[in-house]
Amino acid sequence: NIEQILEFRVMPYASTQLMVVVRDVTRLKQLEQMRKDFVANVSHELRTPLTVVTGYLEMMDSDMMPPPAMWNKAQNTMLEQCKRMDSLVTQLLSLSRIEGARKQNNDKAVNVPLLLNYIQTEANSINQQKKHQLIFNIDTSLDISGSADELRSAFSNLVFNAIHYTKPGGKITICWQRQNDRACFSVTDNGDGIAPEHINRLTERFYRVDKARSRTTGGSGLGLAITKHVLTRHNSQLKISSVLGQGSCFSFDFSSNKIVPMSSTVQTSGK
Ligand code: ADP
Repeated sequence: NIEQILEFRVMPYASTQLMVVVRDVTRLKQLEQMRKDFVANVSHELRTPLTVVTGYLEMMDSDMMPPPAMWNKAQNTMLEQCKRMDSLVTQLLSLSRIEGARKQNNDKAVNVPLLLNYIQTEANSINQQKKHQLIFNIDTSLDISGSADELRSAFSNLVFNAIHYTKPGGKITICWQRQNDRACFSVTDNGDGIAPEHINRLTERFYRVDKARSRTTGGSGLGLAITKHVLTRHNSQLKISSVLGQGSCFSFDFSSNKIVPMSSTVQTSGK
């Protein structure tokens, strides 16, 4: 939170006078702060898994070599941390590509029901431990124009977040339906919920309500930032409503001019 910052410069004017130039540098300072925060966050996020891997490798190279019974655990932990770094770098690249790209001008028809079908398959495999009731309520006649890759990441971020932030045995409903000429996507869960003071900050890069918790779920705090940018590029906006301890609903919709008409509607369940 930076208040207004003014920069004063005194310069010679004509031969006998001085001129004071006042410049509002608030935005410049804000951008500089954001850049610094971003670099600090990236460094921190990459350093954490590196520290774990280095720790194990140093242990193996010293007298403190863990007993063979622990090798398997050490190997799995190192692998997990390497995957974490890999996923962080992938997300960072994807964020920078989406942020840097211009607004959609080469839209293609995207088969959203098929995308959601792939996501449902992935969700079912992750869900084996959590055993949530996953309900997919999909209008199979509803396609829109846009970027398939980007839309897939927006849809899947919301679905996987609901799975991660809901206690085992929860209920998650995923809807892709027409409502008043608009194409609407929503993910509703009966999970942890989010306190009101966090809601407006969730789409900031690296913002996480509970850092430790998010890390154990493999989270990086970039998913919703990516989703926000994807939606902006598709002239849409992320809406979040949540009640702490009761659950959340993440949704967005597209105007009728994005809809590409097709055929029939079915209901599928991923349980
Ligand atoms: P992460 O990689 O940490 O999941 P995201 O940007 O996807 O990052 O989400 C940011 C934060 O929003 C999460 O760390 C979590 O605290 C909160 N969050 C996202 N989805 C949900 C949800 N369905 N229920 C509760 N909290 C959520």
